Amino acid sequence: MYGGFMIITLIMGAIGGLVGKVLQSRMTKYAQTPIQSGVSGKEVAQQMLQHYGIHDVQVVEGQGFLTDHYNPKTKVVSLSPPIYQGQTVAAVAVAAHEVGHAVQHAEAYGFLQMRSAIVPLVQFSSKFQQFALMGAFMTVGAGSTFGDMAMLACIGLFAITALFSLITLPVEFDASKRGLAYIDNAGIVQGEEYTGAKDGLKWAAMTYVAAALSAIVMVLYLVMRFAGNNRRR
Ligand SMILES: [Zn+2]
Repeated sequence: MYGGFMIITLIMGAIGGLVGKVLQSRMTKYAQTPIQSGVSGKEVAQQMLQHYGIHDVQVVEGQGFLTDHYNPKTKVVSLSPPIYQGQTVAAVAVAAHEVGHAVQHAEAYGFLQMRSAIVPLVQFSSKFQQFALMGAFMTVGAGSTFGDMAMLACIGLFAITALFSLITLPVEFDASKRGLAYIDNAGIVQGEEYTGAKDGLKWAAMTYVAAALSAIVMVLYLVMRFAGNNRRR
């Protein structure tokens, strides 16, 4: 069981790493592609919030690269320096995407609410996943009730992670859709600038797709092993 688990972890890790590399290179390129309208990420964020009548969300400058996020608890859109200050394709695309999350929050978008609701469950499950896995590895093939229980615990805990990563997908795709529609309609990007913004956000979404795929494969693998163990008995 351990060998198969390691192979899956490695393959899925490699796919995730590859997608992350593409995202990084695309975003680096688009962060160096200026837009004609000359609007900065900060300005796009503020204008979009205003457009949607949202007055209780702050836009602040964070640190690092690709660390941009919206925090629903503090109602803060945090943009990394190249996004906050930049007047580039990446800056306006990412800023509008993050405000897309703030708009989802303001409109009580269903998938965002579901996602927030299961966060405590995900934190609980990630704490116990490793223990459950160890238990399952140690008791595999023992044919014991304890082995079955450890395996079922594993499946349950990994299923929570998979569910969370699945619910994340519509949340991310929807935020990009809202962001892109805004920067297009407001005339912030034009022609190839829009194509670039769409491409950058597509690769950002792909990292979430890779994570969801990895989580689902993991659950399927555990279920197959569990079924296999019980058939052999
Ligand atoms: Zn997002």
